[in-house]
Amino acid sequence: MQSSNHRLRDMEQHHPLLSGGTDVEADSLAAGVMVGGPHSGHAVGNRTVWFIQDSCGMVCATMTWFLVLYAEFVVNFVMLLPSKNFWYSLLNGAAFNSLAILALASHLRTMLTDPGAVPKGNATKEYMESLQLKPGEVIYKCPKCCSIKPERAHHCSICKRCIRKMDHHCPWVNNCVGEKNQRFFVLFTMYVALISAHALGLSGMHFFTCIKVQWNECSDFSPGVSVLLLIFLCLEAVLFLTFTAVMFGTQIHSICNDETEIERLKNEKPTWERRTRWDGMKTVFGGPPSLLWCNPFTGWGREGLYHQQLLRFQAELLTCLQWLELRRTSSP
Ligand SMILES: [Zn+2]
Ligand SMILES: [Zn+2]
Repeated sequence: MQSSNHRLRDMEQHHPLLSGGTDVEADSLAAGVMVGGPHSGHAVGNRTVWFIQDSCGMVCATMTWFLVLYAEFVVNFVMLLPSKNFWYSLLNGAAFNSLAILALASHLRTMLTDPGAVPKGNATKEYMESLQLKPGEVIYKCPKCCSIKPERAHHCSICKRCIRKMDHHCPWVNNCVGEKNQRFFVLFTMYVALISAHALGLSGMHFFTCIKVQWNECSDFSPGVSVLLLIFLCLEAVLFLTFTAVMFGTQIHSICNDETEIERLKNEKPTWERRTRWDGMKTVFGGPPSLLWCNPFTGWGREGLYHQQLLRFQAELLTCLQWLELRRTSSP
C-alpha cells in the first residue's frame, strides 16, 4: 500500500523562528486560535472526533471496507457454508471472520485516531515566552499551520496539520500515520496480510476439492459465478497480501530503527537519540511484549468515545434520579 498511493507532501524545510535570548517579534508570528482537533473534526460533546475530510481518502477507505466485506462474502457463502465438512467450515470460518473483524477494527482505529497533531496556531508571543527558552536554543515554526514545530514533526498538506513523527499519509486509512496511531496501522497491515493469505489458501483448497467432483455439488452458486467470484478474490488477495506484507515489514523496520519513512526518504541525519530495537517496539505498542500488542481495541473503552458517552449517560441518569427524589420529598 505504499507506492504512488502514499503521498508524502511534507518536504519543506524547517523554518527557524526564534532563538532563546532574542526578542520576540509579535507581528512576525501569525497568532491563531488553538484548536483541539483536526481542521475537519466534528465536535462530539467536549471531545473532537478526528476525521479527515479528504475525498480521495474517503473513497479509498470505503473501498478498503468494501473489499474486506467482499472477501468475507466469498469465503463464507461460496466456500465455507456449502462445504460438507462441518469442522473445516467452523474452524476456518471462526479464524477468517475473527481476523477480518480485527482488520476492520484496526482500520477504524487508524482512521479515527489523532496521529499526533501539533496544536494549530500555537506560535503566539505568549506561548513562546512561556517556553522560557535558554540562550542559543532554536525552535521552528511551520509557516503553513502557524504552529511550533517540535523535533521530528512534519506538515501534512492533506491533514493541514503538523504531525509528530509523521511517517506518511495513507489514503487507504484516510489519515496520517504518526506517533499516536502507528500501532493501529501496523496491526491493520498485519491482519489484512493474514486474511489475504488465509483467503488464498482457502481458494486453493476449494479449487482442488471441486475439480475432483461436480462444481454443482461444491457451491450454491452456478459454476461460472463461483469461478468468477473466486478469481476476483484471488486477485484481490494477491494484491493486498503483497502490499500489506511489504508495508508491515517496512513499518517494523522503521520502528526498530527509530526512523520514520519521511526521515528515511529525506535522508535526515538523526539529531535525536535513537532508541534500541525493543524500546522502539515498546513505545509504539505500549508496554512490554504481550498479546495485548495485537489488540486494536486498546484504549477504546477507557478513554474512547464509547466511554465518554457512557459517562454522559450515567450523569444524565443521576440528574433524573435526583430530580425524581426531589419531587417525591417536596410533594405533600
Ligand atoms: Zn504545519
Ligand atoms: Zn495527513
